[in-house]
Amino acid sequence: MSINQSGWRPTAPEQGKGNVPASVTGNKALMLEEALIFEIGDSHTTGVDFATAPARAATSKLGALARKAPIGLPGLSEPETVRHYTRLSRQNYGIDLGFFPLGSCTMKHNPRLNEKMARLPGFSDVHPLQPVDTVQGALEVIHQLAHWLVTLTGMTSVAMSPKAGAHGELCGVLAIRAALEAKGEGHRKIILVPESAHGTNPATAAFAGYSVEDIPATAEGRVDTAALKARLGPDVAGVMITNPNTCGLFERDMREISDAVHAAGGFVYCDGANFNAIVGRVRPGDLGIDAMHINLHKTFSTPHGGGGPGSGPVVFSAALTPYAPLPFVEKQDGQFVLVEEETAGEHHAGSFGRMVAFHGQMGMFTRALTYILSHGADGLRQVSEDAVLNANYILRSLDDTLDAPFGPSGPCMHEALFSDSGLAEGFSTIDVAKGLIDEGFHPMTMYFPLVVHGAMLVEPTETESKAALDQFIAALRSVAERAKAGDPSLKTAPHFAPRARLDETLAARKPVLVWKDPAPLAQAAE
Ligand SMILES: *Cc1c(COP(=O)(O)O)cnc(C)c1O
Repeated sequence: MSINQSGWRPTAPEQGKGNVPASVTGNKALMLEEALIFEIGDSHTTGVDFATAPARAATSKLGALARKAPIGLPGLSEPETVRHYTRLSRQNYGIDLGFFPLGSCTMKHNPRLNEKMARLPGFSDVHPLQPVDTVQGALEVIHQLAHWLVTLTGMTSVAMSPKAGAHGELCGVLAIRAALEAKGEGHRKIILVPESAHGTNPATAAFAGYSVEDIPATAEGRVDTAALKARLGPDVAGVMITNPNTCGLFERDMREISDAVHAAGGFVYCDGANFNAIVGRVRPGDLGIDAMHINLHKTFSTPHGGGGPGSGPVVFSAALTPYAPLPFVEKQDGQFVLVEEETAGEHHAGSFGRMVAFHGQMGMFTRALTYILSHGADGLRQVSEDAVLNANYILRSLDDTLDAPFGPSGPCMHEALFSDSGLAEGFSTIDVAKGLIDEGFHPMTMYFPLVVHGAMLVEPTETESKAALDQFIAALRSVAERAKAGDPSLKTAPHFAPRARLDETLAARKPVLVWKDPAPLAQAAE
């Protein structure tokens, strides 16, 4: 057996240091190295038995188009295939393995009931081009979910089709643009965004053709309402505000801000990604908001991360409803119908068009509705209460060790924010994050929000038990104390992971996306 074919590559950079010899295989105990499928497979191997192909006519109909060289796709036997993908899956970290403290991401347990419902053939096997009378049940799911989203937010309507939070932001801002243009106010070209905003907010505004102006934060981490009011005027199209904000704080002046923006002729977009902290307790419609996206994949569970499917329905106020995108599911004479044309009725006359080819993410809709119905009103309320309680437990358990810049101004909402102030000279947030990996935890969100130096943003969500939080707190406390004491071993952490410190900037800027045949290696091994 050649070393290359079995995928053994003794290359782990951290091995062979100190008194611990490197393993011949490159494996670390039962954490197995795995090469690319192109390196371990070969085109003569297959896990499938094909009958011998019948003899073909001497002259191929393909003519000059016939392939001259082998296609070069790697083949594996069945057990090799199973091992390859199982080994790769073990190199991933997910919410089903352990606590995922990423702030702003709302990584929570996904109830298996959701998965069971989403896999029902009537939901999972439908096609977007099926005649509507064959998908009445699927349309009813979209219709019911739309009803609950409008009810929970106290808004007027909802566009279900946007496929993620950022896509929902674009949908909301395009509706604002359509409404302004309809009023002959298309010259309003400025969107105000607080300093603490998620990066997607200014990106969305710029993408939709607006200029972005920053609004400063107060010392206690909230929007500076006076500064915002002072900037309002006839050139301002609107504001984009995250509530609860990315410092983990509730924007208490929201009603006052909305009234001022409306009085100045603008619209209020709310980034609702953090709705998990207030669902069942606050209705954004009562705060004067005109448009808000809801990340179904955050607040209403459903797996996300790694570019997996998202869903970002956008709820609208009465003022923006006529401009919302198509399609809508409506019930007419006991039948669910898809309203697909701008001419379909006065409610949709000003629609700015469509966000996507079809109707949105069916699998996500089914999961979210299952989550809403299985929790009920009291259950959803408890979700937000427990999420906030868990975050405050983390904040108060660690604010004696880590600097909590907004800790003194009161309780937080769904996430606890710390800074790198107080770490030893030369130590930063990245060292704490890498140390956490050795303790078996996925790092928290780092260096965001930008208003806090070396930010560490921890969002526990409601689904972590007190025991899980206590273990995380003990780990973060220990790593933070090492960083404060200047423990040099932390600068080279993680020590137990298969890879230590990678050049993430280089990987992002110059990704190696093309596989090159390592023929010299293969020959050497034979
Ligand atoms: C997650 C998030 C977004 C973007 O949502 P996606 O679904 O990832 O596009 C926007 N704003 C905030 C505050 C978020 O947490």
